[in-house]
Amino acid sequence: MLNIGAHVSIAGSLDLAIDRAVDIGASCIQIFGSAPQQWQSVIYPLEQIGEFNRKREEARIAPVFLHAIYLINLASENHFILGSSIASLVQYLKLGKLIGAEGVIFHVGSHRGKGFKSAAGQVAEAISQILAQTEGSGKLIIENSAGAGGIIGSNFAEIGFLVKAVSSPRLAVCLDTAHAFESGYDLRTKSGLDKMLKEFDKQIGLEKLVAIHANDSKTPLGSNRDRHENIGEGYIGLKGFRLLTHDSRLASLPFIIETPPGSDKDDMETLRSLSAHW
Ligand SMILES: [Zn+2]
Repeated sequence: MLNIGAHVSIAGSLDLAIDRAVDIGASCIQIFGSAPQQWQSVIYPLEQIGEFNRKREEARIAPVFLHAIYLINLASENHFILGSSIASLVQYLKLGKLIGAEGVIFHVGSHRGKGFKSAAGQVAEAISQILAQTEGSGKLIIENSAGAGGIIGSNFAEIGFLVKAVSSPRLAVCLDTAHAFESGYDLRTKSGLDKMLKEFDKQIGLEKLVAIHANDSKTPLGSNRDRHENIGEGYIGLKGFRLLTHDSRLASLPFIIETPPGSDKDDMETLRSLSAHW
């Protein structure tokens, strides 16, 4: 059976994320560690972290992922932004260690039209520094992007370059189905999905894939526009998600829904029923 979960809110207290996960029937989760539009980090009282860990163990929710703030840009020429991005990811990895998270999922950032090659060295160096500044097995997990505005990671060759340049067992990858589709990978057919996963394996290595962000897309194939839609209601459609939930190469991975609260329960239910029947 697939491990299906969702991004849940930590509003009020970290451990409330576990209550929310239990309420909607998520068996794995993703959370923010602070307000995603702000640089400011949050230091959680150890008591709250203990409560999170206790509830999580009781509810058997695993894995847990942190999603980095939206401001991260490891390709920035601005030293404040680059330094703050590194500091934020270090802080998130430290929080991740306290709550037993598998890792921190993040977007690399944008080269702002200068091209991937001009930014790649700096990004690889920044990732290496973040890993060197943190202990434990928590992973930094690059999420593929939809490809708008010079955002790095819309194709597997770019992610593969970074994975090889950093060469660390702690650097991994998350595949967002909506972003992949929006950046031009047509995963709606058996042959299209096969082609995409073969390319992923060639450029990055399927062993690096640790999570699926399961989102339908509100925009068409290759639109480069990042708009999530409820499962089955977007351009990927039920047929696409039926293929995804039945692919043996993805069967051991957590599928995490990132649609608005309120529809996440239905989306998980749709994925579950798709995976249970052909
Ligand atoms: Zn995502």
